Amino acid sequence: MSTHADAMHAVTGAGLRPAPGRRAAELYERVRRVVPPIEWAVYEPDIEAILRLKEQRNAVVLAHNYQTPEIFNTIADIVGDSLALAREAAQVDADVIVLCGVHFMAETAKLMNPARTVLIPDLRAGCSLAESITGADVRALKARHPGVPVVTYVNTSAEVKAESDICCTSGNAVEVVESLGVERVIFLPDEYLAKNVAAQTDVGIISWQGKCEVHERFTTADIATLRRDHPGITVLAHPECDREVVESADFAGSTAAMARYVAERQPSRVALITECSMSDNVAVANPAVEFVRPCNLCPHMKRITLPKIRRSLETMSHEVTVPAEVAERARLAVERMVAVGRAR
Ligand code: SF4
Repeated sequence: MSTHADAMHAVTGAGLRPAPGRRAAELYERVRRVVPPIEWAVYEPDIEAILRLKEQRNAVVLAHNYQTPEIFNTIADIVGDSLALAREAAQVDADVIVLCGVHFMAETAKLMNPARTVLIPDLRAGCSLAESITGADVRALKARHPGVPVVTYVNTSAEVKAESDICCTSGNAVEVVESLGVERVIFLPDEYLAKNVAAQTDVGIISWQGKCEVHERFTTADIATLRRDHPGITVLAHPECDREVVESADFAGSTAAMARYVAERQPSRVALITECSMSDNVAVANPAVEFVRPCNLCPHMKRITLPKIRRSLETMSHEVTVPAEVAERARLAVERMVAVGRAR
């Protein structure tokens, strides 16, 4: 199993896994730049309890980059973007996976490792993209465009993945689209990601009208204001943003690509045009970089809190399952995506 250290290294370029039994207070050193002492005093009892419960339950915690720093940097064993979490979930040999992220990520973990018990601390942690489309919508699109393969962003339900030929993430979308060797694909469900992919490939893209409610709020005016108020700032944008926003940034890339950019180039001052906690978590790993935070929170990601993670491990809830027939077809679509990455 890959550890927090491995995944952090891959995703953010730094970080150490807490040794078993290590006192929560010692972990504070890691997050003191982004968590004030008064907040830490509130977090500490839950962190200590979660560290104990993980051992009792033989559980590992997977945390997405948009989780708050006191989750991402202390109790998580494996961290990363949705692609990294999907890959790492497949390797987990512990009995229990606690997914600190949103529901489709927990479903994907279950698809990749069906023998494990997968828990999500709050069942209401959804996603505006995942909720923008259903399996019936995909079947209707396929009927309208017979023979055109369906490429589906991982930010979708298992039911939608089951109707798809292959999945992708924002990090590998162009590569996945081009791997099919066809002239046209149906690309679901993010309209902005579809436009950003279309700008980088000759493959024709048939898109859907889904949007991420966090990234769609950023505008070119936001970026102009950042550049005016912070001369010399480096602006990195996520490809779930509108095409014009992406074009006005210095670099556009997935969550992992943005973290890598900061780790490798160490810009003196940077703004990440993405979910709020991402800046905090990348800041922890890059103390020499100044972060300007144009803050848009994902309300779904923020449903996951330390008390809910603690309760999840105490009560073994909420278990995420996928009906066998759906799981089999959805898993194929995810595995095809992972295989494209391996073939690189
Ligand atoms: S940030 Fe956007 S894409 Fe990610 S979980 Fe939240 S709503 Fe969904």
